[in-house]
Amino acid sequence: MNPRAAVLLVLGTALLLAPVAAPPFWVTLLNYIGLYSIVSLGLVLLTGVAGQTSFGQAAFVGLGAYTTAYLSLNHPAISPWVNLPIGVALTSVVALFLGFITLRMKGHYLPLATIAWGISLYYIFGNLEFLGGHTGLAGIPALSFFGIEMRSERHFYYLIWTIVLASLWATRNLLDSRPGRAVRALKGALEMAEAFGVDAGRLKIVIFVYAALLACISGWLYAHLQRFVNPTPFGPIQGIEYLFMAVVGGAGSVWGAVVGATVITLLKQVLQDWLPRLLGRDGNFEVVVFGILMILLLQRTRDGVWPWLARAVPQRKPLPVSKATTLPKRSRGNEGVLLVVERARKQFGGLVAVSDLSFELYRGEILGLIGPNGAGKSTMFNLISGALPLTSGTIAFEGRSTGNRQPFQIARLGICRTFQHVKLIPAMSVLDNVALGAYLRGSSGVTRAALRLDRREEAMTLAEAAIQIERVGLNEHLHAAVGSLSLGKQRIVEIARALAADPCLLLLDEPAAGLRYLEKQELAALLRSLREEGMTILLVEHDMDFVMGLTDRLVVMDFGEMLAQGLPGEIQKNPVVLEAYLGGV
Ligand code: ADP
Ligand code: MG
Repeated sequence: MNPRAAVLLVLGTALLLAPVAAPPFWVTLLNYIGLYSIVSLGLVLLTGVAGQTSFGQAAFVGLGAYTTAYLSLNHPAISPWVNLPIGVALTSVVALFLGFITLRMKGHYLPLATIAWGISLYYIFGNLEFLGGHTGLAGIPALSFFGIEMRSERHFYYLIWTIVLASLWATRNLLDSRPGRAVRALKGALEMAEAFGVDAGRLKIVIFVYAALLACISGWLYAHLQRFVNPTPFGPIQGIEYLFMAVVGGAGSVWGAVVGATVITLLKQVLQDWLPRLLGRDGNFEVVVFGILMILLLQRTRDGVWPWLARAVPQRKPLPVSKATTLPKRSRGNEGVLLVVERARKQFGGLVAVSDLSFELYRGEILGLIGPNGAGKSTMFNLISGALPLTSGTIAFEGRSTGNRQPFQIARLGICRTFQHVKLIPAMSVLDNVALGAYLRGSSGVTRAALRLDRREEAMTLAEAAIQIERVGLNEHLHAAVGSLSLGKQRIVEIARALAADPCLLLLDEPAAGLRYLEKQELAALLRSLREEGMTILLVEHDMDFVMGLTDRLVVMDFGEMLAQGLPGEIQKNPVVLEAYLGGV
């Protein structure tokens, strides 16, 4: 047996036998660890992976708990099992609303907003008469399962941990999928994700709802385990603690949720038991010591405890990628004008970065956009890709104006780009980074991905990514973390990612920067072969030798203005261009 399977087998057996072998007190503790794990799993996704900090998850636990408590007591004819989907529906509506109004906020405003609505919901629970006010609701019935009343911790243990494992499975599936790659891009690479068609605003709300639903399920379980609810466990302090669990466990991995819930629950228990004995007097000392320990832990290990444990569990080898079936390709027209830029202007305050520039791009050509540093090339590039809005003028792609479209909508038209400063997800493999490029060619959403119904499309996406990686000559790095590659190679990964999108127009911002002579020649050969396939390429480049040998036409910019345009041979002899570049030599 391989070591990984052995570790999993031991853990699985321990999990299965725990309620039989352990004393009831421990089973209760394990039940709570399970309940907390479910909530912090949502935070691993929302905060750890997507970078959206929420202090308010406890309120969603409360929604799940109060919904079933109220319905069980007032409408006993409805089965508590039916209360779960009702709670889920209610939580979805509330989370959609809260997500819609808060997730557009950036920086510290978002966490503050989550605290604010966390507190509001907490006071709503405490102030509504029909929810029992601050005393809460008692006498909630136990769940029954095929006629067996689940009155003991042991019964509940199996239900809770089945749900924990199912949530782990679903969340892992989700992270390992089309929407999952996009979620991983939300933290730190948002601009890139949007350039490949990800509707980031919508995706943030979707995972916010996902995390809220996990919290709601935990609340539903809690209400029937405890059989009593009051507002305290759904308040802001518990909200902070859930976040602690995710961060301490390791917010980058689904297992971090379970590890964090375990560490914090056990630590609090131990401190509660031992501190009064050590100090010889009662008092809430555990809170103080707990706080100090948290600070020390976060100082020592910012990625949480899980990465340490993960080293002890042998990792699975990546599966080989079959290139048998790939995604369908779009048809490209092969003649005429593809893109028309007319009097495009971009001002940053008083600075005119692009000044009424007009040019055209023909299908199947490589157009070079050159000019000294600060000439406005990258700005022009960002105007085309929609990363920056035009101050005035128009840009039309295949006859359709791109002016009032978001970057992800422009990507949908068939325009893909690389970035002058590479924007990759460093911890993710080359394969996954490139597969993100094919985002628009797939359609699986969060639900399909979580339930693993997306495997056919996923296989085709990975095949497409692998083919593009092979094409750019990075086959040997397929499964390497992209951050471990040299900067030059990372630029090439960016090209593979853009190709995975199957664009009509490829925008390359200084792709040859940082490449060695031979690598540049390989890149030039690659771009030529793309042109032969009908791809149109706009190339911003510094290296004149590289540009002259490769491009069909050149547009020369200086101080935001068009200096000249024409064939490379003409431009090379143009005195105005020589003046700008070489200072009149
Ligand atoms: P290039 O790519 O040709 O080197 P850029 O397009 O990056 O030039 O920059 C053109 C000019 O616009 C520069 O003077 C630069 O400082 C300015 N600029 C670029 N982006 C911004 C921005 N976001 N805000 C303010 N000024 C900017
Ligand atoms: Mg630039």
